[in-house]
Amino acid sequence: MRVCVIGTGYVGLVTGTCLAHIGHHVICVDNNEAKVQLMKAGQSPIFEPGLSEIMQSATASGNLEFTSDLAAGVAHGDILFIAVGTPALANGESDTRYVEAVAKGIGAHLEGDYKVIVNKSTVPIGSGDWVRRIVLDGIKERETVGNGGASGEEVAKKIGVKFDVVSNPEFLREGSAVYDTFNPDRIVLGGNNSKAIAMMQELYTPIIERKYAEDQSLPAVPVVVTDLSSAEMIKYAANAFLATKISFINEVANICDRMGADVVQVARGMGLDSRIGQKFLNAGIGWGGSCFPKDVSALVHTADDYGYDAHLLKAAVEVNQRQRQIVIEKLQHELKILKGKTVGLLGLTFKPDTDDMRDAPALNIIEQLNRLGAKVKAYDPVVSQTGLRHGLSGVFVETDAERLADGCDALVVITEWQQFRHLDYPKMAKLMNNAVMIDGRNFLDPKQMQAAGFRYTGIGR
Ligand code: NAD
Repeated sequence: MRVCVIGTGYVGLVTGTCLAHIGHHVICVDNNEAKVQLMKAGQSPIFEPGLSEIMQSATASGNLEFTSDLAAGVAHGDILFIAVGTPALANGESDTRYVEAVAKGIGAHLEGDYKVIVNKSTVPIGSGDWVRRIVLDGIKERETVGNGGASGEEVAKKIGVKFDVVSNPEFLREGSAVYDTFNPDRIVLGGNNSKAIAMMQELYTPIIERKYAEDQSLPAVPVVVTDLSSAEMIKYAANAFLATKISFINEVANICDRMGADVVQVARGMGLDSRIGQKFLNAGIGWGGSCFPKDVSALVHTADDYGYDAHLLKAAVEVNQRQRQIVIEKLQHELKILKGKTVGLLGLTFKPDTDDMRDAPALNIIEQLNRLGAKVKAYDPVVSQTGLRHGLSGVFVETDAERLADGCDALVVITEWQQFRHLDYPKMAKLMNNAVMIDGRNFLDPKQMQAAGFRYTGIGR
């Protein structure tokens, strides 16, 4: 099928590339010209395991193209994905201005045959109908001559433009985005037009039938067809649930810390209950990234707009904010005065296998340590001093873990990168002023760390 994906970030680029890989003809559009040039040269602007390889093969096969020309993308696609960012505004509300600009742009160029416009971006509940209206506004604005007081709907009908909006929320995880696209737990399609839903099912058929799955013998991927608002709500509710689950175990960890219980053992004992499950029960410095914080805030905000005070979600956010402070408290407990001390952060990104620093707990922790007069160094396998983005300041990024340890008074595990399991910890301990290890992800083995010469503290253990 002919597909256009607008916005080539973590979601758009992965979606466009994977759809091209399974045989569709995809044009990816981005208004960032530098990014487009990079992608045309076969390079991925983001770090995502496996992405570059399939990007290059799909481009070579002619199935994947990149452009900054929205008109060309809209003319090409029978299915047009909107995959631009929806960051949080200061009041927690979702900033939909990029979606609005794209919807307007689609309206300005929409011609001829029936098209499906897909909201892949995480958009506030009710946005499906709103996007339809913005597209119609775009159509109306370009067709001013002879259309006087006609509505966008009437103008579209008159010039023979037909389209429907479908909500198709994305559940991929950064760090395993390609894997998740080929091995989804479910595909959610929200809309009120059966032709549009049928086109989306056809688009995803190879994935639904698990032709590109790791385990092709599994039953077909469940497709959940709903109305527009329910599909939008599924995305928010799923992320809010996962964030709350982490905040829950962090609350338990803080109680464990006071009682002398070990939250790692507690979580295992809880998670073996099939009603609970093991996932998202790792206590630590809390959730971050480009999705959980903004999606939970947006849901709280929407609830508020509709007269509901979302107590539980607000508490999940509060527990998460407090959790970032716990690292500072543990450092103060170990080192007493932080002014003049050097703290080394193992990892910077909000989770392993990504270069995404948006709302990473490291940002808060660096800010607080700087405020308390500590010098902060870091080492991260993908974030370098020159590659620092998103306004990260007050930290010097070393090129390896041993340089990081050298002269530090404490190390803090911020991100559970697998390679951190195999560092030469006895050597690192010897290079430090004070061999203090605060494990913000309960990732390392306390006994091994003690044997390596560290004073080890985890979260709730
Ligand atoms: P991103 O910020 O990485 O990428 C957005 C892209 O859109 C950028 O490349 C930007 O240049 C481009 N863009 C902005 N305005 C444009 C315009 N007018 N025309 C063309 N391109 C434009 O965002 P992301 O992380 O990929 O997230 C996209 C959406 O998907 C968000 O709503 C997010 O909540 C949702 N989502 C993200 C994830 C994730 O893990 N990142 C997972 C699920 C859902």
